[in-house]
Amino acid sequence: MYYFYNMQDFVNNLPKLAKDKHNENKKFFAKLKKKPPKDLDYVMMDLNEKEFDRTDCLQCANCCKTTGPLFTDKDVERIAKHFKMKTQQFIEQYLRIDEDNDYVLQAVPCSFLGADNYCSIYEVRPKACREFPHTDRKKFQQISNLTLKNVAICPAAFNIVEAMKFRLQNYKPT
Ligand code: SF4
Ligand code: SF4
Repeated sequence: MYYFYNMQDFVNNLPKLAKDKHNENKKFFAKLKKKPPKDLDYVMMDLNEKEFDRTDCLQCANCCKTTGPLFTDKDVERIAKHFKMKTQQFIEQYLRIDEDNDYVLQAVPCSFLGADNYCSIYEVRPKACREFPHTDRKKFQQISNLTLKNVAICPAAFNIVEAMKFRLQNYKPT
């Protein structure tokens, strides 16, 4: 596992670290998908909890700075209401439609991210922000392509995948 004294050093090194691990991770997830261990949901919950006990997202905010979430219709309604704006007005001011026809931010870093890395709409933030990096998701093996990308953005996801490989190293799909 990789520990950097400084979170920003870790974030800066992450694209290279993720690239170096890419083939290994790809093989690991391909095996996992074939026949996931029965207790995978439990393992992921446990690894996720342990990682986020020691990771301070306020020292990082790399997800908010570099990618940003998808906004569901419910997210748009809730956040527009929070700003006492009409839905359409909120969309025009902050969002665009991407190539998959989803609402995404017009620009990153996210407009709602403060200089102190706090989210100014934390209580009403999009569902995708609440769930990122999705490492406690049930049937985690089903989002391996997304996870392969997220390990290059999120230090916690990177560590969780490393811990996952270590924990499941004796696991062999049949
Ligand atoms: S979820 Fe990951 S990328 Fe986002 S702030 Fe936390 S550690 Fe950083
Ligand atoms: S809405 Fe908040 S949590 Fe989501 S990307 Fe923006 S600043 Fe980050």
